[in-house]
Amino acid sequence: MATKVAVVTGSNKGIGFAIVRGLCQRFDGVVYLTSRDISRGRNAVAELNKEGMQPRFHQLDITDPTSIEVFRDYLKNNYGGLDILVNNAAIAFKGNAPDPVAVQAEQTIFVNYFSVLSTCDFLFPILRNGSRVVNISSSAGRLKNIPSEKLRNRFKDTSLTITELSSLMQQYVDAAEAGTHAAEWGNSSYVVSKVGLTALTKIQQRMLADRDIKVNAVHPGYVDTDMSSHRGVLTIDEGAAAPLFLALDAPNSVKGEYVWYDKKIVSW
Ligand code: NDP
Repeated sequence: MATKVAVVTGSNKGIGFAIVRGLCQRFDGVVYLTSRDISRGRNAVAELNKEGMQPRFHQLDITDPTSIEVFRDYLKNNYGGLDILVNNAAIAFKGNAPDPVAVQAEQTIFVNYFSVLSTCDFLFPILRNGSRVVNISSSAGRLKNIPSEKLRNRFKDTSLTITELSSLMQQYVDAAEAGTHAAEWGNSSYVVSKVGLTALTKIQQRMLADRDIKVNAVHPGYVDTDMSSHRGVLTIDEGAAAPLFLALDAPNSVKGEYVWYDKKIVSW
């Protein structure tokens, strides 16, 4: 039987790092810690080596199609496929960041939505039957965070396609550039990016309906990481618990869902 493979994006630190640790402890296969920066990635692997774990390393910058393609080919040539994909990598501007809203919107949507989508475009074709995809969303990714009812209905529409969703994300970036975003979209690019990711999760699951693949979105909780400026109340291992549950333990009936850090399905 082929060696099983798990990949976690942006796992040189934070919740992704703890997801790699948990997979090393429990997944029957090889686990790839990936990082856009080779030395940060190798240092993280060395840290887990000290704990007796043996994750493999591969460079992966989700904003760089060539980097994703090289990794895809590497996985395909060495293992023939992929069994667990955790889309964890993301950015968040700090509340006091000086960058104009147009810049924050463009970069946040580019990384947290469009780059996750392009990672999936490259890696989904090599997913094996039985595989699981975990999209790390957030409580910010809840639909009620979008003020406009019309937009909420668009996001919820079960016939929404990825092309249409991507165009909605672009509309937000354009509105932020024009300074007309606030009434309909609210004031957080991070919220829009994570609502987009949760919506994407549901479409991806619909598109994979005829295959034995589960795709879920998860809010990992408020976690003590650089992203939360270490204000989060959960440890990274606690934050990794629900993503690990979806990657390894959730019943097959859990698919296309939005799951909370306590592992319960919540209404989006
Ligand atoms: P961190 O900022 O600690 O870690 C983010 C990781 O993503 C880092 O490894 C970072 O790499 C990586 N990353 C950023 N951009 C890229 C890229 N272009 N390519 C590859 N990797 C990249 O954040 P957290 O661990 O807190 O967040 C992990 C996930 O959990 C995110 O999706 C976040 O939105 C979500 N989340 C976090 C919460 C929290 O309270 N912390 C709450 C809800 C959701 P580098 O070191 O190179 O910057």
